[in-house]
Amino acid sequence: MLENIIDAKNIEGVKALLEKSEKCVILTHSRPDGDAMGSSLALAAFLKARGKSVSVVVPNEYPFFLAWMPGADSVTIYDKAPEAADAILKAADLFFCLDFNALSRIEAAGEVVASLPAKRVLIDHHLAPEPIFDVAISHPEACSTSELVFRLFWQMGAADEVTREIAECIYTGIMTDTGNFAYASGRKDIYLIVAELIGKGIDKDIVYRRVFYNYSFGRMKLMGYMMYRKLRHFPKKNAALITLDYEEAQNFNCSKGDTEGIVNMPLQIKGVRFTCFFREEVPGKVNVSLRSVDDFPCNKVAERFFNGGGHKNASGGEVRGTMAQAVKLFEKVLEEFSEELTK
Ligand code: 5GP
Ligand code: MN
Repeated sequence: MLENIIDAKNIEGVKALLEKSEKCVILTHSRPDGDAMGSSLALAAFLKARGKSVSVVVPNEYPFFLAWMPGADSVTIYDKAPEAADAILKAADLFFCLDFNALSRIEAAGEVVASLPAKRVLIDHHLAPEPIFDVAISHPEACSTSELVFRLFWQMGAADEVTREIAECIYTGIMTDTGNFAYASGRKDIYLIVAELIGKGIDKDIVYRRVFYNYSFGRMKLMGYMMYRKLRHFPKKNAALITLDYEEAQNFNCSKGDTEGIVNMPLQIKGVRFTCFFREEVPGKVNVSLRSVDDFPCNKVAERFFNGGGHKNASGGEVRGTMAQAVKLFEKVLEEFSEELTK
């Protein structure tokens, strides 16, 4: 039996806000991933079926391997259509903020949301949310925001309203945020939820293939190139680094989503507990992805060195500067965190 972890007061809070609201806007974080999209699209479909007017607004494009998700084609992408997106935000009477803990994570939309009177509901599994929400369903122990969205439906007594499409979205979020049940996935409840989702008629193996077996030929070649030429191993620090320059990504004809998951690969090396992937998105801006196992705190590294944040074992950020500057910062990280890395 699934235990109720969301405070009853928060469930009642969401119900009361929904009774008073007609136009709901669901927001999720920059560079949306499977959990951001899965939780948002699941909630959108649920609210639409209840007769609400619902829009999902994302700060920027989602990766191509999530385009199949039910409802993905009607998402508004803020940086592609800022005026249309602003009009949607201004018309809202209720915001749902999913899979992020600070308005800075939704880029330009954050300032607009901060200036508007509509109430805000947070559903998220990052640490330490900003104190700006009318209802805050914040559970860092959850594997994903999608897990929490399922729990919300469940605790609202609305499990019957979970359709196969909604279940596919929730499953996608749980699957991607746990690396297909490889990390953050040891709690029994996750499998009780998965059993419920399978009961709704999803084919979990097909969902897996749609997300993970959907890459370009260029990605395969790029992976080979990066593993052969660009992977650096720091055995004394139990760490690894992969870098990808702007021109290299261009040469392999790779889009953003094509480098997804590459940061995890060096964790397969015996002894490696911390990995870092730098991708020069445009000259002068390097995207940073960090992963770790056990207790090594990626989020502290991201906060201190890369103007970012995230979870203990999966974080991100950026460097405004050259790849050489980013690599220098990484070397500093290895020095400063030497004790944690080698214990
Ligand atoms: P990824 O490496 O997949 O881009 O990001 C991993 C995780 O780190 C994300 O799910 C998110 O929780 C967090 N993250 C990524 N970039 C940032 C950032 O710039 N700021 C914060 N606070 N978290 C981030
Ligand atoms: Mn998440």
